[in-house]
Amino acid sequence: MTTTSAGQAVATASLRDLLAAGVTTYSFEFFPPKTAAGERTLWDAIRRIEAVQPTFVSVTYGAGGTSRDRTVAVTRRIAAETTLRPVAHLTAVGHSVAELRHIIGQYADAGIRDVLALRGDPPGDPRGPWTAHPDGLRHADQLVELVRAAGDFSIGVAAFPERHPRSPDWDSDIRHFVAKCRAGADYAITQMFFDAEDYLRLRDRVAAAGCDTPIIPEIMPATDVRQIARFAELSDARFPAGLAARLDAARDDRETAHRIGVEHATALAARLLAEGAPGLHYITLNRSTATLDIHRNLTERPAHARHDR
Ligand code: FAD
Repeated sequence: MTTTSAGQAVATASLRDLLAAGVTTYSFEFFPPKTAAGERTLWDAIRRIEAVQPTFVSVTYGAGGTSRDRTVAVTRRIAAETTLRPVAHLTAVGHSVAELRHIIGQYADAGIRDVLALRGDPPGDPRGPWTAHPDGLRHADQLVELVRAAGDFSIGVAAFPERHPRSPDWDSDIRHFVAKCRAGADYAITQMFFDAEDYLRLRDRVAAAGCDTPIIPEIMPATDVRQIARFAELSDARFPAGLAARLDAARDDRETAHRIGVEHATALAARLLAEGAPGLHYITLNRSTATLDIHRNLTERPAHARHDR
């Protein structure tokens, strides 16, 4: 690090170095919006989140065509017009290796040095059979290798506290996870989950396999009972029955439901940090209120705050 102020040093150090130095990372995830109104909501959220100076923000990679172009455009705009560090999600779905190289080059041109390397899911039906592009890649470890060979990127990969839904057993799940770490991943971010024990067991399994890649837990605040079906579409994470019942009882009282969801997510996040999680990755759904409430609960309360970033 060449800068003198701690804040500047954090801003210029690579994510790989920050995590290796034990800095607690706070990050926020967005998705590329489809409409002009969605774009305004997204940028409103980005500006509010920028004010708390997170370690990074990330933008999910769409399932196809225009949505992918929007991912690249939003990620590049964050790099050009904000003080935030953007992490670009990238999947192998439907791309030849040449196309993947081209996209990685577009990110590099925009000064982006961080990629989350994912296999992705089949377009249309995410639970359908996975088929690689004939000139493409089969698994995320190959994408990690491709990004690593393309330049000096910090590379993240996906981790699954309740096991990847396609993994036949834990042994193969952990073996393949460790393989993508050894291929050159600097850190992992988990799928959403709602029980800290699932994260801790995954971390123990990975450690038992001799791998110490930092695994950042993903935090998804549930502030409306009607979101639960959407969560099930996004992941196979088990949703706690008690939380579902409390949100259901507050289905017509937005303020109470918001408080319940934020309290639950704050308690989960605080426990994870107390257990030594390297950071927190908040899913925003392009809104800022719930995730910023959780973030402030954690960082502005001395009992939970970790002022090392
Ligand atoms: P892989 O690591 O390739 O694993 C997929 C499956 O194949 C697992 O069962 C694994 O055990 C197995 N496997 C891996 N390597 C091998 C091998 N060599 N031989 C045999 N089996 C193997 N999807 C999107 O479309 N866009 C996004 O932006 C996006 N962002 C995400 C962010 C996070 C934090 C997470 C957790 C997931 C995200 N996803 C996204 C979803 C992700 O693409 C899917 O969950 C996908 O099914 C798995 O991706 P992966 O990178 O873990 O794949």
